[in-house]
Amino acid sequence: MNDLSNPATIRALLARHNFKFTKALGQNFLINPSVCPRMAEACFSENAGGAVEIGAGIGILTRELCKTFPKVLSFEIDNALMPILNETLAGFGNVEIINADVLKTDLAELLLEKFGGKPASVCANLPYYITSPVIMFLLESGLNLENITVMIQREVADRLCAEVGSPLSGAITAAVHYYAVPEKLFRVSSGSFMPPPKVDSTVIRLNIRRAPPVEVADEEAFFRLIRAAFSQRRKTAVNSLSAGLGLPKETVAHALDSCGFEQNIRAERFSLEDFARLADTLNMYGQTQS
Ligand code: SAM
Repeated sequence: MNDLSNPATIRALLARHNFKFTKALGQNFLINPSVCPRMAEACFSENAGGAVEIGAGIGILTRELCKTFPKVLSFEIDNALMPILNETLAGFGNVEIINADVLKTDLAELLLEKFGGKPASVCANLPYYITSPVIMFLLESGLNLENITVMIQREVADRLCAEVGSPLSGAITAAVHYYAVPEKLFRVSSGSFMPPPKVDSTVIRLNIRRAPPVEVADEEAFFRLIRAAFSQRRKTAVNSLSAGLGLPKETVAHALDSCGFEQNIRAERFSLEDFARLADTLNMYGQTQS
């Protein structure tokens, strides 16, 4: 079986299939042999019916997942990689490659069909151009997941794993913490990829919560408020909320006051509990409807 971490072997494999990298698809393939075993181990759970990979590439992480999980579903958008994957995964009977855009897939239906109601672990070296959309898609789809273990750009990892209510936090930080408990696992330098990207990476694991950490009366209004609060980071919350939600400033100011917040508070200071309280207060005024 060919060694998919050996640059000479990879070059020969790609040349044989006349494969050209598509930068726009985030095609930076892992060549550091220690990374995939660590990622597969990190996302393993006894409870999981299988693993879902997003972006198989030439199959280096896919192989590791096949050794770790009873079943693997791996998405790959690029047709040109199909013959390569047929070759590199030939020895594995427990993998299904799905040649599709993961963001256009009904994952809930597919996971139910393939894993028979058991939860799945998601494991991926994510294409950087869709990191946030993929993570939000996975979190918001109400999928039956154990964890999402992904390699992402280091700065994005810092933002996703920041405390909600700290200077690095943003709307996606709040969403991640609502659905999961994030953990930074380890760093990966750009030299671990072919071709090397311009950024360094971090592997994070989002441990999916069984229940949200805060109760909110209207989840949609809660997230609408969070997005509005961070839509103009440099402004005070009263300004960003009134602009983002289309509300009179006095209404927002009144809600902040009745929740006990200072009038000049900024969104990055709010905890999830604070957002929940504020959303419920504005909701009581009937003010967070779109
Ligand atoms: N897993 C391989 C590895 O670690 O070497 C490849 C990782 S590479 C960073 C990302 C892969 O995702 C590429 O092969 C790319 O073609 C694929 N990809 C990009 N957008 C995708 C999408 N929307 N759905 C499925 N696969 C996608």
